[in-house]
Amino acid sequence: MKVLKFGGTSVGKPERMHSVAQLITADNDQKIVVLSALSGTTNALVEISQSLSEGKKAQAKQQIDKLESHYRTFCDQLVKQEAGRASAKAIIDEHFEFLNIILKISFNEALNKDILAQGELLSTRLFCVSLEEAGISAVLLPALDFMSIDEYEEPEIPKIKIKLGNLISQHKGEKLFITQGYICRNARGEVDNLKRGGSDYSASLIGAAIQADEIQIWTDIDGMHNNDPRVVKKTFPIEQLSFDEAAELAYFGAKILHPASIWPAQHFNIPVKLLNTMQPEAKGTIITELPNGNGAKAIAAKDGIIAIKIKSSRMLLAYGFLRKIFEVFEKYRTPIDMITTSEVAVSLTIDSEAHLDQILKELQPFGTVELDHHQTIVSIVGNEVAATPSIITKLFDAMEGIPLRMISYGGSRHNISILVNGQFKEKTLQVLNKGLFGLE
Ligand code: ADP
Ligand code: ASP
Ligand code: MG
Repeated sequence: MKVLKFGGTSVGKPERMHSVAQLITADNDQKIVVLSALSGTTNALVEISQSLSEGKKAQAKQQIDKLESHYRTFCDQLVKQEAGRASAKAIIDEHFEFLNIILKISFNEALNKDILAQGELLSTRLFCVSLEEAGISAVLLPALDFMSIDEYEEPEIPKIKIKLGNLISQHKGEKLFITQGYICRNARGEVDNLKRGGSDYSASLIGAAIQADEIQIWTDIDGMHNNDPRVVKKTFPIEQLSFDEAAELAYFGAKILHPASIWPAQHFNIPVKLLNTMQPEAKGTIITELPNGNGAKAIAAKDGIIAIKIKSSRMLLAYGFLRKIFEVFEKYRTPIDMITTSEVAVSLTIDSEAHLDQILKELQPFGTVELDHHQTIVSIVGNEVAATPSIITKLFDAMEGIPLRMISYGGSRHNISILVNGQFKEKTLQVLNKGLFGLE
């Protein structure tokens, strides 16, 4: 069985949804198709939620109406026959009635998650109506019936495996299953999600749970490029990546993949393909356990980084100092991405503000604590990249004139990371594209 995930742009227009229907019926293999919300929908739902949280009900109402009218127009083109149109209308009525009801009740975090879930619920239901109109047999598997996270927001693969297995076994002989990406249930049984871009993660978790033959991530670009195409003019697709390389790129900001989406596939050794819905014949990128080639393959950038420097004369000759510092971050379940040390100071980075106040308070006794917001980690990723002698020279040459806040070299064989102030992100990606790949 294969898992095929289609992102927001891949289902964002009626004709794109029709193309997806063609792609998934091109062969007779059994598949689970994971869909995102139509492009723009989750952003719109975030805005609606934001308005409601600020008590701006009239504004929320306007935003809901605008979204509803988008869906009505979408469905006019998606389905043509009377039966299909009636089904689509009933689905839109139901979800927008829900959004209109929440205008009347008091806002809370659980409701926020319910609001955010509407996008994937709508896209999958409407897609099924369109499949039905085309005479294609498919079964909708509700993600809320099998996808779950624990109290620490970690996915529960063994539980997902059992629940999903049970659901699939109820439909013997069925070739096509459709489900929602992104949404799940949390430890309290409430509707929750896998964070923005989480449909990739859903696909990988589903792939792991069913031990799929392959996971395909269908998007709007022909695979992982060597640099961020939104920032740098000339980029090219990479044909092959190892799990380690892809995981580093995803974690360090390559938007094409959710940061955590590689580990489930890697853990169960399931190949992942990144493919382009707009250009299905393009090779895309294949991600397997095999390392391939040496040196820099791609550059990614992760924004919104906070650098924390702890300076203390007591660090001098004091063993156990780093452990005590790390324990603070462990206590608040806040991962550290980069770290550098000297005799009297340690600098490290985190990507979340969630427990910053508590962390800072607990770090105070260790020395002077300095904070820098709006930093960006730029990672150069590739097999044995840190052992490729020329790279570090090229990197420093290219970076001339751009202040480097931190550098992490040798921590992983696949990654060299630098920290720059966010204002230098674009420049850094551009000069490294020239310095490492000769592209301007
Ligand atoms: P989807 O909606 O299909 O999940 P995303 O917008 O999340 O698609 O991811 C695809 C986008 O990621 C591309 O359109 C591209 O602009 C962006 N992107 C950023 N870095 C890279 C990269 N290194 N390679 C390919 N795409 C990238
Ligand atoms: N719809 C969700 C988002 O926009 C999940 C996804 O597209 O992967 O973040
Ligand atoms: Mg995405």
